Amino acid sequence: MPKNDKKEPENEQKCTFCTRTSSQVGNLIAGPPGIFICSDCVQLCNQILSLEKKRGTKGTFKKELSFQNLPAPMQIKARLDEYIIGQEDTKKALSVAVNNHYKRVLTSLSRKDVELEKSNILLIGPTGCGKTLLARTMAKVLNVPFAIGDATTVTEAGYVGEDVENLLLRVIQAAEYDIEAASKGIVFIDEIDKLHRTHENSSITRDVSGEGVQQGLLKILEGTVSNVPPQGGRKHPEQEYIKIDTTHILFIGGGTFDGIEKIIARRIGKKQIGFKVDNAADCLDDKNIGEVLRYIEPEDLVEYGFIPEFVGRFPIICIINPLGVPELIKILVEPKNAVVRQYQAFFQMENAALEFTAAALERVAAVACAKKTGARALRATIEKLMLDVMYELSNRKDKRTYTITDKMVDGQEPIAPVADNQSENSAKAKKQQRESA
Ligand code: ADP
Repeated sequence: MPKNDKKEPENEQKCTFCTRTSSQVGNLIAGPPGIFICSDCVQLCNQILSLEKKRGTKGTFKKELSFQNLPAPMQIKARLDEYIIGQEDTKKALSVAVNNHYKRVLTSLSRKDVELEKSNILLIGPTGCGKTLLARTMAKVLNVPFAIGDATTVTEAGYVGEDVENLLLRVIQAAEYDIEAASKGIVFIDEIDKLHRTHENSSITRDVSGEGVQQGLLKILEGTVSNVPPQGGRKHPEQEYIKIDTTHILFIGGGTFDGIEKIIARRIGKKQIGFKVDNAADCLDDKNIGEVLRYIEPEDLVEYGFIPEFVGRFPIICIINPLGVPELIKILVEPKNAVVRQYQAFFQMENAALEFTAAALERVAAVACAKKTGARALRATIEKLMLDVMYELSNRKDKRTYTITDKMVDGQEPIAPVADNQSENSAKAKKQQRESA
């Protein structure tokens, strides 16, 4: 703090922190009686606080995982249930797999006499049904860094695209360059199915590239010290690399694997799933595709176009089921971040209430279901429906309730509010919404 030897006039106010007088430092800010602070000291305090804050954020993932704070599979599943509707078997399998993974990490750090094998996970199922959400939620539950990489942006050296190490750069960035935390993170590789070697009628470039990337990923998936280009893109020899050991990174691959059900159906034929052997593959519809996928074996993935070593790096395969109307209705209202809850919060901020009748929720779910993009279509459907109301919502200040009916969803009636004292419908809708939830 600045020093001052000059004689001060008596009774002059002083900064309590640096003891300089108001004639030396200008205006003082007054606190409780007799306490003052000058602008220099305010500035200094600010600097100290922001330095402390930076130190604090660097340690976001510093809370070390230990056997004591590692959540049990049941706890992990309970947390997944808060965000993910349905997919019960997969949530259970994943909870066990992830708990085992981190037990393995902790064991390898503390014991040298046993070696538990790494088990990356493959999530197979239709788009918009929760693959990314599952992986992301898992990382949140465990408080480990999480990154999503897209398999289609990565190519084999010599082709236009990025090196496989870019998938690791994302998790390093998510960990704010805390390499130790990043090396225990989760990397979700989306569209991993697109890396398959295609057969007839396909461009030779894609063929080579897909299989080349599979080869390139093998070491990273299993565990190696990787050189990651800090700026992303392609590696070049003069560059400085970030070194990261991938042994403890959990990789979760996700993809739709379109058409793999035919390979499975052909293999298992009539006996187990009730189709005729010769045309089992041809009579699959949306409903029984999920059923058939349950029988998936690593050999089906090899036939689909993956090299056996690559398949071997994903010992856990989980199936994600398509979402039907009943699940979509639940997704609208149940999860912590359900889209209807979010809209209700917006309405509350404007002194209004929002409700959906059970029939309206069903209509929204049916419209979204028809789009075949899973739960993704729900938000788009609601956003389109609510656009005009949101536009005019802030203009009225009276307490009112908007009750959305199925006719409004179909566009047969406009969405209009009812002042709260007249709202008979609203009580009914509230009850229905509670019942459907
Ligand atoms: P994908 O299977 O294609 O990876 P996502 O996990 O990205 O699909 O899902 C897209 C969005 O749809 C999520 O952000 C989430 O809001 C919603 N969603 C999808 N599946 C579910 C589910 N089972 N439960 C709750 N919300 C879901």
